[in-house]
Amino acid sequence: MADMVTLTIDGRRVTAAAGTTILDAALDANIEIPNLCSNDELHPYGACRLCMVEITHKKRQRLVVSCIHEVAEGLDVKTSTERVLNVRRLVMHLLLSRNSTHPRLRELAAELGIERSMFTVDFKGCILCGQCVRVCREVVGVAAIGFESRGDTRAVATPFNEAPADCIACGSCHYICPVGVIPMEEQDGVRRIWKTDFPMAKCTICGKYFAPVKQLEYFRKIANLPEDHFDTCVDCRSTKK
Ligand code: SF4
Repeated sequence: MADMVTLTIDGRRVTAAAGTTILDAALDANIEIPNLCSNDELHPYGACRLCMVEITHKKRQRLVVSCIHEVAEGLDVKTSTERVLNVRRLVMHLLLSRNSTHPRLRELAAELGIERSMFTVDFKGCILCGQCVRVCREVVGVAAIGFESRGDTRAVATPFNEAPADCIACGSCHYICPVGVIPMEEQDGVRRIWKTDFPMAKCTICGKYFAPVKQLEYFRKIANLPEDHFDTCVDCRSTKK
């Protein structure tokens, strides 16, 4: 069994397993800390910086990013001091300068009393949380996309901005994006994502297009399934048996 540690969050005693992040310990104790880039299925990344909290440990006080900072015995955490809120507001102004329309972002901004960004930059909506890059690498296992450039021009992109050779068109990056800026569409048996067209497989029984050929081929290989395993869609496969 994991070692347990006791800490204080906003004056409440909380017990958590050693190695737990402050964010997870707080959320498990029903103490809200706003966050955008955290996802239970992915490794913590600390990208959006919204989950900043103030900690006091061994008489030393400082701000930390709670999704990547682990709990410790005797840690005193404050989730909404004036110092924390000031940093969070600045972070929110920066996030809104990248995406001023997304409902979740606007909702979190309103909670901080912010209506619009004090900055005027517009980077077409991506808030650089990195969930798409992480899901592709950590869950799908292909690492077809990544970050390019730095500073103002940092962006998520395919290698050399060309058609992504390793992409299997699974759509995980599209579904996980918290601000909905990775377009994906399907038409006439083709799924389009990352400006690339991927042919879809057609069910040999009902004739419905059901998944990208490349994705099925990838799953078939890693699971060592027979050649004809994905000839039919899920619905027809269950009636076939
Ligand atoms: S659609 Fe392509 S880039 Fe997106 S998660 Fe799947 S493999 Fe990665």
